[in-house]
Amino acid sequence: MTLAISWSSLKRWELCHHRHYRTLRGEVSRIPFKRSMLPGSIVDLIEREWLSETDPRPGGMRKIAPDVIDRLTNPDRGDDAFEPFTYKGDPRADHDAIVSFVHRCIDALEPVLMRLVVPHDYQPEVPFSPIIGIPYLDGQLVGIRLRGRIDIVSRLRYPDLGFAKGDFINYDLKATVNDAYISTTLGQGTFYDLGWQAWHGVRPSRFGFIAPALEQQLWWSDIADQDRAVMMDRIIAMAHGMWRGSWDPKIDDEGCDYCEARHACVKFSKHLVTDDVGRRRISFEESLSRRWEGRAYELGEQVAADEGEARRPGAAAGSAGG
Ligand code: SF4
Repeated sequence: MTLAISWSSLKRWELCHHRHYRTLRGEVSRIPFKRSMLPGSIVDLIEREWLSETDPRPGGMRKIAPDVIDRLTNPDRGDDAFEPFTYKGDPRADHDAIVSFVHRCIDALEPVLMRLVVPHDYQPEVPFSPIIGIPYLDGQLVGIRLRGRIDIVSRLRYPDLGFAKGDFINYDLKATVNDAYISTTLGQGTFYDLGWQAWHGVRPSRFGFIAPALEQQLWWSDIADQDRAVMMDRIIAMAHGMWRGSWDPKIDDEGCDYCEARHACVKFSKHLVTDDVGRRRISFEESLSRRWEGRAYELGEQVAADEGEARRPGAAAGSAGG
């Protein structure tokens, strides 16, 4: 099986190798769908359905909105896209707040898409999964898969935005209210740029983040060759780390309290020792020494045994998920 790397798995790996390892083994708690993610999911679906219409028109998103909101907030509808969530405070007031935010987003989003996307050829929700060649640990070329899904792929029908007819410009929707968030995710544009070029054989001219809830609603990610080289280095570092079986937990504890793999994490595991009268006791000292001395975990050996087959070129590793 070919090693597959997505943007989210790359971020997870870089955050904590051990968290990624536990995710691959299916040893993570299910992350409950957060109420804070609901408005973004609704806006995303409205955008997709509106762009999938044969002739998207101004005002169309407002017509679609009531049904999409109901499908994603009303469990009785039994919609596949529904995820259980808990309202914040008074459910009626919170539902009104969600509707109000969604309306604010789509009222800002529609003119942006009417200007940038609708006049051209376009497709919402486009997956990519090309195989690219990278050096294996011994320097031999081996294939890995890049995986992702682009919110909107557009191809210019006439020269526009400073680019030529036929050029690709791709977009991702971010229904965030936090300006700082956009700068943390610019790398996603570079990852998608590499993935789309390898998949389609054409380098996109530009990648844009559309953030309808922010004052600045369009954020261009102008990707230079240097950015692509840095992203390839990150991808290769992840692949090599996985092939080597480098599954150590992160040294610091930032984010550990909210980690879905914490219950299975070796850094926080309780180690049993046998006391003088033969009782099994938890050794916190042992846990602490494992945690702070940075000693090698036997786990690496275990993974090497489990996935030894998968780390060889030609039979390389499992999906990186995400
Ligand atoms: S609890 Fe912390 S160290 Fe352990 S897997 Fe999660 S992020 Fe990594």
